[in-house]
Amino acid sequence: MPLSEFELIRQYFERQAIVRDDVVLGIGDDAALLRVPEGYELVVTVDTLIAGVHFPEHTASAAIGHKALAVNLSDLAAMGAEPAWFTLALTLPEGDAVWLEGFASGLHDLAMQAGVALVGGDTTRGPLSITIQAMGLVPQGQALRRDGAHAGDLIYVSGRLGAAGLALDGLQGRLTVTAGEQASLQPGLDRPQPRLVDGMKLRGLASSAIDISDGLLADLGHILERSGGLGASLRLADIPLAAVGAIAYETRLRAALYAGDDYELCFTVPVSRSENLAAVLPDARCIGVVEMEPGLRGITSAGERIALDVRGYDHFGAGS
Ligand code: ADP
Ligand code: MG
Repeated sequence: MPLSEFELIRQYFERQAIVRDDVVLGIGDDAALLRVPEGYELVVTVDTLIAGVHFPEHTASAAIGHKALAVNLSDLAAMGAEPAWFTLALTLPEGDAVWLEGFASGLHDLAMQAGVALVGGDTTRGPLSITIQAMGLVPQGQALRRDGAHAGDLIYVSGRLGAAGLALDGLQGRLTVTAGEQASLQPGLDRPQPRLVDGMKLRGLASSAIDISDGLLADLGHILERSGGLGASLRLADIPLAAVGAIAYETRLRAALYAGDDYELCFTVPVSRSENLAAVLPDARCIGVVEMEPGLRGITSAGERIALDVRGYDHFGAGS
């Protein structure tokens, strides 16, 4: 290993970390000291990415650095939190300088953009795995949660869905795509953009929120379950889909419903606040409504109602 652990930490992580004045003590001591302002709650989340499980083995290291932080910031976005700090536990097979250079650049570029400071971590040798813990701040009592949806609330998504899932299918040969289509899908998989600004704007507006990491139906299902076992109807034609070349509508719709990794937000808003929402987030799309009756139902453009299965495509094919 060409670099010692301490050189590696200094060169790739300590020197490049952004500076915030609420970091009393950052990298270099036994632990970090962070100042939470009066009237705020600390929001904490952690996610691990393992090579071959959460990203294909040969993914560019800059994309891995970006994504490891992006998925955590996306959790903060879904809570309505403003990102502040993060820690990084990195397990590496070897201290490969080229790999580290790319990883650190992907990581720090996004950290800079989000204003989030790296304040500590751990570095070990073993099969490649990256764990990031992100911390954010939210005014007391204003966090967005999964458990606040009510029957009658409108269901929204923050942007187009399905690109990441289509990109992965294209990469792994489950879907035939042209080189141009793959190139236009790939950023959705490699460089998800956490919806931090949207999340903060939703404070006081959304009754519940989640980020879409497992697919729209699965993640909306978490909101409905947490909110007391509610259900929903979705107008399928209103779901904003990845727009790519000649890929069939039905393939893109399935990716939007069932594939994950897009990191858009799904949230609910009481009808009484829907005009406020449209003023604050004009690009958010209303795709359906929360209902008392448990389960997920799709409404086709012909007005036909079909049962949607969170786990599979079975019921879906017939109605599309
Ligand atoms: P300790 O043995 O006390 O846990 P370490 O030797 O693991 O300390 O780490 C030394 C310092 O470097 C600590 O402040 C730790 O938070 C920081 N650090 C270690 N690895 C990383 C990393 N990958 N990214 C950022 N900071 C790190
Ligand atoms: Mg340590």
